[in-house]
Order: sequence, then structure tokens, then C-alpha cells
Amino acid sequence: MHQPATERRFANAPCEFSRGTDLATLALASARDHGLTVTPNTFSVWYEYHRGGTPELNRVLDILLSTKLGLNEERFASLHAKYLGGPQAYLALRGTSERMQQTIAAVMTLLHGAGQDASRFGAAVQHAAEEVIVQQPSIVGLLRGLLAQAQDVVARTRLMEADLARNADLMQSMQRTLDEVRRDAMTDKLTALANRRHFDDTMQTMAGHATNDASDLALILIDIDHFKRINDRFGHPVGDQVLQLVATTVRRNLRADDFAARYGGEEFAILLPATGSGAAAAIANRLREAFASNRVVVRESRLSIGVVTISAGVATYRPGESMADWLRRTDTALYAAKQDGRNRVTQAE
Ligand code: GH3
Ligand code: MG
Ligand code: MG
Repeated sequence: MHQPATERRFANAPCEFSRGTDLATLALASARDHGLTVTPNTFSVWYEYHRGGTPELNRVLDILLSTKLGLNEERFASLHAKYLGGPQAYLALRGTSERMQQTIAAVMTLLHGAGQDASRFGAAVQHAAEEVIVQQPSIVGLLRGLLAQAQDVVARTRLMEADLARNADLMQSMQRTLDEVRRDAMTDKLTALANRRHFDDTMQTMAGHATNDASDLALILIDIDHFKRINDRFGHPVGDQVLQLVATTVRRNLRADDFAARYGGEEFAILLPATGSGAAAAIANRLREAFASNRVVVRESRLSIGVVTISAGVATYRPGESMADWLRRTDTALYAAKQDGRNRVTQAE
């Protein structure tokens, strides 16, 4: 008998789908089998373990498994930080997550198609059967068999549909977990701004867009003046609060298309599309003045730490130059602002 289209299509379901789901299912099962709460850390460590992409991680985890020592969420957090915290893992994760999204879309399409094909097939056979029963009573038996088979296909497709729906649910929850992990990997914990890694990615992408559209793209690098003194006089936690204040002030002063990141310890970077050097310097000056004209007071203790100033360097992207060169030019402008006495904004030459 001719094989219905639905069955053939399922046989060819994308392998990415089954692999992604299998790994996710294995990761979930492993976490549960070992009595671990499923967190972004436990999930992604087990996922990577089953994927086998980081042999060293597998070796260490195998040893831990054989000794049954210290298999707890904390241990997984440190495994995650050690083996999955680097740029490779971040990139892999980003790829995985994007693939997952595509796979979910594919599964949904498949589900939809499956139901339709099965009912169409059933209806067609039913229709043919009715016609032939009238015309050629001798093959009624054969057609009854065919009809039964058609109904069986419909029933099996329904089961497959339910199965796929369950998998799609699972994948969607995996997707949410991955998104969470990915967001963590891109965000600076203290300030909730983008971190350096995310900044590097975005800088490259935005430079590409600026080149394509022949539009301006400005970069501002900000560095807090004498930040070490703040730490030394008021302690590290107060220093942290100042960093949060700078982040909040930066965020409040930007437009929707601008992109701000914590670039390093007490340095911040802002990318401003469709903005020339002069306009970017004006924005940097507005930020600088906001700090220069206000005392910073710690909210809880009402402790005044005086005026905190910032310096900034500004440079627009030169189409074709490397990100390193662009950063270097901006950093040189920032250095000049420091040399000129701080609390200043300098544009690159
Ligand atoms: P300058 O005006 O030349 O920039 O002087 P500075 O003291 O700001 O520069 P320096 O680079 O010497 O000091 C930066 C300090 O930032 C040193 C480091 O301890 C502190 N720092 C880096 N990251 C953090 C953080 O996350 N929290 C706190 N509280 N301090 C940090
Ligand atoms: Mg610095
Ligand atoms: Mg500084």
C-alpha cells in the first residue's frame, strides 16, 4: 500500500529537533536522578555533559559521579563558572538557543500539517470506499481493510501529535531556561547593564549596520574619576553603590536605540547610532554635568560622599577600521580627558 504522506514526513523530522530534545530530556532526567533542583546551572552543565562538547567537564563530572561526593547545586554553579562561563560556551549557548527557537517553529508547523494530512487521507479513503462499494461490491472486503488502516493512521497520528505537543512544551520550557542562562551570560550582575562580552558583540553588529547605511555611530567611554579613593575612604560596598548610580544615570539619559554596557571595573561604554561626534560629546557632557553638580549621598545611611566626577572619551566609527582600533582611539581621548585634569569630555582627533 502507498505510504501516506504524514508518515513519511515524520520519518524525516529534523534531526536537530530530536537531538536538542533528547539532550534537554537527558539533562532534565540527570538533574532529577541526582536530586538536583533544575536551575540554569544544573541544566546547562548536564546538557553540555550529554552533548559531550567539553571533555574536561565530562571527566571531572564523571569523577564526582563515581565518588558521589558533593553533587549539589553549588558544585554545579562552580562547574558552570569553570567550564561553561567562557566566550565559547556563551557562543554555543547562543547558537543552541537560536536553533531551539527554529526547531519549535518547525515542530508547530509539523503538528499542524500532521493533523491536516491525516484527516485528509482518512476522508479521501472513506470517499473512495463509498463510491466503489456501490459500483463493485466484490472488492468491499479489500476496501474495508483499507478503511480500517486509514483509521489506524489517523489514530496513530493523533498520538504522535500529543507526543509532539508534549515535546514542544518541554522545548518551550527549555527555551525559557536557556534564555535565562543567556541573559545571565550577557548581563553585568552589579549594574544590570550589558557586560563586556555583550558589548563586544553589539559593537561589531552596530558597526556593520553603520557601514551598510553609511550612518554615524558614536562611542563614549566613561571612567569614574579617582574611584579608588571612594573605595578606600568609604569601603567597597559604597563603591558598588556609586557604580550602580552611574549605571542608572547613564540608562536614564539614553535613547531607545543607544546601547550601554559596563565595560570594566569602573568604566562604562555607550554606543549611539546615527550620532556624530559633536552630538555624542554633548550627551557625554550632560552626563558629566549631572555628576559634577550634585553630591552623592548614600540613601540608607545619609552618608555624603561628596561630588563624584566622571571623564569621557568620544569617537565615531570609521568605516572599515577594526573594533580594537576604534576602542583604542576612544580610550586615547578618555586618557586625554584625564590628563587635562578629569571631569572632562574629549573627542578623538
Ligand atoms: P582615575 O581618575 O585615573 O580613573 O583613577 P581611579 O582611582 O578611578 O582609577 P583606578 O583604575 O586606579 O581605580 C579603579 C578602581 O576601581 C580600582 C578597583 O578596586 C575599583 N573597582 C573595580 N571594580 C570594582 C567593583 O566592582 N566595585 C568596587 N567597589 N570597586 C571596583
Ligand atoms: Mg579605570
Ligand atoms: Mg577611574
